Amino acid sequence: MEQDQPEEPAQEQVAEQMRMNDEQIDRVSRWIEEKVTETCPMCSAEQWQFRPQMMVLPFVDPKTGEGLRASYGVVPLECGECGFLAQFSALAIGLAD
Ligand SMILES: [Zn+2]
Repeated sequence: MEQDQPEEPAQEQVAEQMRMNDEQIDRVSRWIEEKVTETCPMCSAEQWQFRPQMMVLPFVDPKTGEGLRASYGVVPLECGECGFLAQFSALAIGLAD
């Protein structure tokens, strides 16, 4: 069966398009060095790494539990050993206002 819609871009292509610029990467690196002093809470490894993309958490209506009203920017930090993800506010890091 033929598809009329163009294919979704590959994940790597999207990741590259959404890549932080060098200044933002420097800012996140410095922030992590200063603030992240603990090992992974799941496996105790000390292998934190971040990908140079921001992600978003959706706001949901607290009365109905429905509806994406806006989003909240976060920078995920991943444990290189077990994959546990910690999220830090892009606002706190100074990437968003
Ligand atoms: Zn871990």
